[in-house]
Amino acid sequence: MARQNSLIITIDGPAGAGKSTVARRLAQKLRFHYLDTGALYRALTLKVLKKLKKNDLRTAELNNQWLIRLLNRTRLRFKNKNNQTRLMMDGRDVTQAIRQPVVTDNVYRLAETPRFRQAMARLQRRLGQAGPLVAEGRDLGTVVFPKADIKFYLDASLSERTRRRHKESRKDRNRVSRKKLAAEIKRRDRRDRTRKTAPLKMDKNALYIDTTRLAIDQVVTKLFDIIRIVSWLKFIPEKRK
Ligand code: C5P
Repeated sequence: MARQNSLIITIDGPAGAGKSTVARRLAQKLRFHYLDTGALYRALTLKVLKKLKKNDLRTAELNNQWLIRLLNRTRLRFKNKNNQTRLMMDGRDVTQAIRQPVVTDNVYRLAETPRFRQAMARLQRRLGQAGPLVAEGRDLGTVVFPKADIKFYLDASLSERTRRRHKESRKDRNRVSRKKLAAEIKRRDRRDRTRKTAPLKMDKNALYIDTTRLAIDQVVTKLFDIIRIVSWLKFIPEKRK
């Protein structure tokens, strides 16, 4: 595993807990890099769906080696544009395309493929070497960056997570009913929590934050304050603590 030279903050948690918005805002506030690992899994899923010309993937047709070769031949890069993070895949902006329901419904097939996950973790560590980092996903504190300086686990009730996703979906073309969204989030949580490799779980050193009753700004401020305290404590020599 690559040596960790600069500060790394990880944020894990289930879908709709607020990870992406919080991580992006936090990274801006701290002037850190931001790594959205879900976007990487989604981008590869989009590529596989296109390659196989399918809308529904089967685990049996996803050969580990083929997936890894495909990943190695894919150029993935995050780019900042007008205060937004865009994901470029092979020179194309796929930020919108990876949010399509067909991608959301199939991403777990790649996410549960063990050796592919290891290759994804290596890619994430490489992308994380650019400097101080806020990284978010499902297994960042447990598997990808086990030595991260500060680990958070963001959570919220299912109804609140559904409400947030529903609000988001009204802004774009992928409108879905609230009932359907709740079922989809539940299904995704179950798959992410029960897969054999790198399931979603809280790292023993992570700080649990329930965001159910908090606005995004409050969550960002809360995490920012914790980071300030923890980094300050880290710089105090042992004998003065
Ligand atoms: O975060 P987002 O909802 O975009 O993630 C999409 C899916 O990608 C998750 O439901 C999960 O199956 C997978 N994923 C993962 N490990 C990560 C990030 C995302 O398995 N670190």
